[in-house]
Amino acid sequence: GSVMEKVLQRQSLRMRNMQRSWQESPEGKKMLEFRKSLPSFREKERLLKEIALNQVVVISGETGCGKTTQLPQYILESEIESGRGAFCNIICTQPRRISAIAVSERVSTERGEPLGESIGFKVRLEGMKGKNTHLLFCTSGILLRRLLSDRNLSGVTHVFVDEIHERGMNEDFLLIVLKELLPRRRDLRLILMSATLNAELFSDYFGGAPIIHIPGFTYPVRPHFLEDILEITGYKLTSFNQIDDYGQERLWKTQKQLAPHKRKNQITSLVEDAVNKSNFDSYSPRVRDSLACWSPDSIGFNLIEAVLCHICRKERSGAVLVFMTGWEDISCLRNQIKAHPLLGDPNRVLLLTCHGSMATSEQKLIFEKAAPNIRKIVLATNMAEASITINDVVFVVDCGKAKETTYDALNNTPCLLPSWISQASARQRRGRAGRVQPGECYHLYPRCVYEAFSEYQLPELLRTPLNSLCLQIKSLQVGSIGEFLSAALQPPKPLAVQNAIEFLKMIGALDENENLSYLGKYLSVLPVDPKLGKMLIMGAIFRCFDPVLTIVAGLSVRDPFLLPQDKKDLAGTAKSRFSAKDYSDHMALVRAYEGWKDAEREGSAYEYCWRNFLSAQTLQAIHSLRKQFTFILKDAGLLEPDAATNNKLSHNQSLVRAVICSGLFPGVASIVHRETSMSFKTMDDGPVMLYANSVNARYQTISYPWLVFGEKVKVNTVFIRDSTGVPDSILILFGGKLSCGATPGHLKMLQGYIDFFMDPSLAECYLKLKDELAMLLQR
Ligand code: ADP
Ligand code: MG
Repeated sequence: GSVMEKVLQRQSLRMRNMQRSWQESPEGKKMLEFRKSLPSFREKERLLKEIALNQVVVISGETGCGKTTQLPQYILESEIESGRGAFCNIICTQPRRISAIAVSERVSTERGEPLGESIGFKVRLEGMKGKNTHLLFCTSGILLRRLLSDRNLSGVTHVFVDEIHERGMNEDFLLIVLKELLPRRRDLRLILMSATLNAELFSDYFGGAPIIHIPGFTYPVRPHFLEDILEITGYKLTSFNQIDDYGQERLWKTQKQLAPHKRKNQITSLVEDAVNKSNFDSYSPRVRDSLACWSPDSIGFNLIEAVLCHICRKERSGAVLVFMTGWEDISCLRNQIKAHPLLGDPNRVLLLTCHGSMATSEQKLIFEKAAPNIRKIVLATNMAEASITINDVVFVVDCGKAKETTYDALNNTPCLLPSWISQASARQRRGRAGRVQPGECYHLYPRCVYEAFSEYQLPELLRTPLNSLCLQIKSLQVGSIGEFLSAALQPPKPLAVQNAIEFLKMIGALDENENLSYLGKYLSVLPVDPKLGKMLIMGAIFRCFDPVLTIVAGLSVRDPFLLPQDKKDLAGTAKSRFSAKDYSDHMALVRAYEGWKDAEREGSAYEYCWRNFLSAQTLQAIHSLRKQFTFILKDAGLLEPDAATNNKLSHNQSLVRAVICSGLFPGVASIVHRETSMSFKTMDDGPVMLYANSVNARYQTISYPWLVFGEKVKVNTVFIRDSTGVPDSILILFGGKLSCGATPGHLKMLQGYIDFFMDPSLAECYLKLKDELAMLLQR
């Protein structure tokens, strides 16, 4: 190894020279000045010492104090300075792809280098890193994937796991794996970073690792709760009937159908109690009236608009950060604001959005200062809560909710509801206003509601289905899934684990003894949900790759069909134009995408999207995801080099339908036709409803007995989002594991079915390709 050693030494010297010459350049000096002003700088020496002395260190500090951009950089710099730069290999994980990219860009700027030199990033399907990269920012998912193929993380010297306070599933999973790895890699350093102060929990998990707190400088932020806001803005809450009820119109409508005593949830009655008993009299009559009809769901866009107007008219200068629940709400509110005489005036207001799937160009604008006399307003999801820092924010508007998936293990159903945030989140949101000067925070809920929030959010591991996770655990070859997960910081319920295992068996990813099948092995390396991964593989095997690729890309980004609150009917009609009576939202998606490609070629993409209620941004995202998936499948040897072969059968509708079914199974609902209506039941007999803008919701009857669906979501009732009608024959041939775990015996049996159901084209495809299928399965 001495030749290697020499090469690395030479490289280290080069790195030191480059670092020094940057630090001595005028720009470099200026940057260093800025970096020295961050609170974390004062702790630098202590941090380096503790990290050298301890295998695990826990670090907490206010958001913006310089944890993410500075701490990994301190290690890199000090290694480079001591002439060991090329020997270190630092990984820093982020919960979200967008923060991994933003942070790596920032750090490379701070070092006066292009991205991909000493600093790189890697996120799902995208990355920029070179042979000189020694500090890599990646998503926690990427590090997990790396651990699958490299259990010892060989060559890595430091691992930073960032934002652990969020308790994301991948972070919790990483901690189990790393905890097990540490005794085998005594030289590896693990640094955990968190914004809020539950650091003891993590320290205890690692046997009392030292905790370093970075005291921050933030200015005080004055909280205003709903009662004050009503007073300040003069806004009057109307009754529940407000049409633009914040984000939950439908939910609220269904609530209205309930008997009045059942309408109120716990928090509502809590508010009423508080309002009735406590200092209700001290409020003015107007506020009293308003509060009396306050309900958690009656916070409208109008109230947010009123607060924004108040800030623009009456308050000092400074940017405004508005926390919303999700992308749909952000875009609805943005449209509403754009029509407002003051807020929509581009000479007075710079309106920006910040969410997980925004374009990089848009991302840069968020960090820039607005021109003087222009008010910057950023509508954001809870992404802006901790992982992204917008410096000039002085005002925060907090709707009090975040879209959170919860998981109902008993019914094996994920629920996606905007739900109340925790007190920790509310404080965190508030803190975002005090970065540059004292700030103001408008919480759009009464103080007593805040007091009823739970202290911390439930960890993701306890509130999501574990399908993907269990598949990954299996491919780590660490034995029983249940046993492995019982080592988590807070282990999930056995029933949730059991459900996931059953699911993986059902789709053929695990065999009867819980061992990975060939399919399972492929699925564990594809960076998509196992169901979608299976659909992709089947699309490749059955030579109808292109349409399937679009569907999978669409399902893993989000629905490109927009559903503006005030134009639901028009939007639904526009979507149904793509359905061509084939009873499939998935095929409609394919047509919409292909239409968009054509329109783009003709230069009319904008009009096309506008006319059809399509999101150009989402279509663009689908487009790039398609490329990336193709690359990965080629890389895994699942695709032929030429597109024509892979698409030989793409025109065969019934085959595409079959492949959709093979991926979405066991998401199957039976259609119960009545005289004038239909109802739907899932395999476990639960009633479900169709989403309003599903093409299938517009038919009186559907000429198939079954619907396969991608996702079922509980929003009071259980809804299925997008669905495709399938006949019996397809369900039997392609549902379940038959299709991929097929033994010669199975195929013989299938042949019988094919004769029986007499869909010759399908039968031909299946039989023609069964040899290829069998070969793939034996690899
Ligand atoms: P933490 O991880 O503790 O929340 P960061 O390391 O992300 O803090 O950020 C530290 C500081 O660096 C921020 O307060 C901000 O001033 C600055 N900063 C971070 N990212 C950017 C950026 N993209 N552009 C300009 N300044 C940035
Ligand atoms: Mg950070």
